[in-house]
Amino acid sequence: MESYSFVIVGGGIAGVSCAEGLAFLRPDKQVLLLTASPVIKAVTNIVHLTKTLCEFDVKELRAEIFADLHQTVSVIQDTVTSINTEEHIVSTSGGKCIAYEKICICTGGSPKLIAEENPFVLGIRDTESVKAFETRIKDARRIIVVGNGGIATELVHEIEGVEIIWAIKDKHISATYIDPGAAEFFQTRLLKTKERMTSQTSSAVKRLKYTVSGSSDLKDRPRGAALGPDWHATFSIHGIHANMTKVTVEYETEVKEISYKAELKDSSNESWPVYVHLTNGKVYGCDFIVSATGVIPNNSVLTTNDKLILADDGGIKVNWKMETSIPDIFAAGDVCTASWEQAAHWFQMRLWTQARQMGMYAAKSMVASLSGETVLQDFCFELFSHVTRFFGYKVVLLGLYNGQTLDGQYEVLLRVTKGVEYIKLVMKDGKMQGAVLIGETDLEEMCENLILNQLDLSAYGEDLLNPDIDIEDYFD
Ligand code: FAD
Repeated sequence: MESYSFVIVGGGIAGVSCAEGLAFLRPDKQVLLLTASPVIKAVTNIVHLTKTLCEFDVKELRAEIFADLHQTVSVIQDTVTSINTEEHIVSTSGGKCIAYEKICICTGGSPKLIAEENPFVLGIRDTESVKAFETRIKDARRIIVVGNGGIATELVHEIEGVEIIWAIKDKHISATYIDPGAAEFFQTRLLKTKERMTSQTSSAVKRLKYTVSGSSDLKDRPRGAALGPDWHATFSIHGIHANMTKVTVEYETEVKEISYKAELKDSSNESWPVYVHLTNGKVYGCDFIVSATGVIPNNSVLTTNDKLILADDGGIKVNWKMETSIPDIFAAGDVCTASWEQAAHWFQMRLWTQARQMGMYAAKSMVASLSGETVLQDFCFELFSHVTRFFGYKVVLLGLYNGQTLDGQYEVLLRVTKGVEYIKLVMKDGKMQGAVLIGETDLEEMCENLILNQLDLSAYGEDLLNPDIDIEDYFD
């Protein structure tokens, strides 16, 4: 039987980052990456914006090319079916049995679909699913996008030449990431109007301070790896109407029923292959529905083991060393649920940033566990940080950027320059707890420092965002 010191299951960002970490930290040990997909996801072009914030590209590599790059790493394309945790043996659908000393589960998640096995409901997760989407949208007149997270937001922004009905359960768009103010900031882009101001022509800067009362509204089958940033750039996502893109947002609603009744007519008076009944009473006909309502962790490789502890969201529970409840089994990325006592300004979100951080940290922890050394928790788990692009703007999210865990007991300092920037600082007792920075604000480093060092900023009051004062000079 083949035997390896380290085995990793899954060739997404978490698994690949873990493999790279292991190859670097223990070049004397053999590492096996077992993955169901023929391509793996590698992180490239890393640009560090601050201590915890970094931008990178995600590259798809053929498994054998990745293995060639790392002498001690072997890659096998196969699906893991079970793990004998007592004997330390992993079995695959291809009939392989492989022995391990330490194993890391990085099997990601699958889209949570509003209706399973419905040919009119598509989820977006991997290259294969985007190809299916690309084929379907070519002839589409109208689609319905359900969900209000990053994928739905990006889709609505990127799709052209089709009518889009965007059904969201919140009062404002993109609620996973932003508040109603920022949603308003994006509104012109959403409506795809050409109204864009340059920094010279945009005059007024609106500064606001408000106190949030009450609780915040933020309580908040093996496939390929999840797509990474800019996944849409390589696909053609255009509908049938060359010059027409219309977006209608249906707020505070959910899908009640999907039907195919040909006699049904919606307000457009056209007939459609499928009709969506919303809980607000409206019925929309469409060509197909995109379900972008989150992921379900792919935990099946271990679920038959009664020692496995899962979190309520179906993720494999891990402690701060990325250890599961079963000895010598680690987990990282979308498949796991962080179940340690978290730092005041960090929380888990299933993003590539955290998949990478967890994968690299799991490698450190696996190496320490093999050699009996102690390991300290990585600094990246001190502060939630994420950078992305929405509607063409750079979006930086830091700490408790939406007042998460503050139970509505915080103040917000806001500076908005229409079409240019949106800056929101979440403050509690004069100390910065989080920030949303949209546009080229150049404030990420300062905000990161102020959240981490919890400096009392009461003396500055609203001047913290006074455009006539260069606050960076004070705190950098
Ligand atoms: P995955 O990437 O899902 O990888 C899982 C791997 O495990 C795959 O290789 C799969 O083949 C393999 N696997 C599964 N089961 C088995 C098995 N039994 N045996 C062997 N192999 C198995 N995040 C951001 O931060 N920014 C974004 O802009 C962003 N955009 C996104 C857009 C889309 C459309 C999607 C779907 C996600 C996006 N995300 C984004 C989320 C991000 O992609 C994920 O959080 C991240 O990629 C998770 O990485 P992972 O390695 O944990 O899992």
